[in-house]
Amino acid sequence: MSNIYAVYGASGFGREVMPLARKMLPGDNDAKLVFIDDGKAGEIYNGYEVIGFENFLRSDQTIKKVCLAIADSSIRKELFDKLEESQVEHWSVFAQNVVILDGCRIGENSVLAPFVTLTSNISVGKSFHANLYSYVGHDCVIGDFVTFAPGVKCNGNVKIEDNVYIGSGAIIKQGKPGKPLVIGEGAAISMGAIVSKNVPAGALVVATPSKKMQRKERLGG
Ligand code: UDP
Repeated sequence: MSNIYAVYGASGFGREVMPLARKMLPGDNDAKLVFIDDGKAGEIYNGYEVIGFENFLRSDQTIKKVCLAIADSSIRKELFDKLEESQVEHWSVFAQNVVILDGCRIGENSVLAPFVTLTSNISVGKSFHANLYSYVGHDCVIGDFVTFAPGVKCNGNVKIEDNVYIGSGAIIKQGKPGKPLVIGEGAAISMGAIVSKNVPAGALVVATPSKKMQRKERLGG
């Protein structure tokens, strides 16, 4: 009985996930590892074959597992449902240096990138993406299809509802036990934002962008 494993998405994020996926397969000498990408079938990326989803389904291997590595959460949701309909197994990929402390539950088909930390008593829904150096503090509750760009600092007692996107380097203030800080469904937080109070569903929170200053001809002296 042989297995085929796939990283769905052969674009930027998928190519970052593939080496982590490979590291999860020691000892499975018969395993085949490929990209699935409906727009890039037939190509080779970093030595891995790219096949379309229909061809993946037709492959001979008896066990088929797929990790969704596409940043856009609405595409992830669509593909997640397609995997279920096709009875393909969900596959979570975690970097080897991820830290997960006590009492955490992480939903299926999630990706935790290198240097991610989840502390204690955290509940995470399906298809969570936590990119490089992100952390999640104690007692957080995270919904389905949530995406953290690199370096998100999510402090304790925060509730993040489904389909929320949090940009690189954003800081989410700690909530209180029994009164979490809530980021509502489908909200998007821009990179570098400091979120210190509840965010309504669907809202877009934008941090102050950088500003060009007048530069003196000669600095100092
Ligand atoms: N894609 C796909 N099937 C779909 C939707 C998207 O194979 O139904 C692929 C698409 O061809 C692209 C990748 O997913 O190669 C998404 O890449 P993108 O650069 O948009 O995002 P990222 O790498 O940041 O997730």
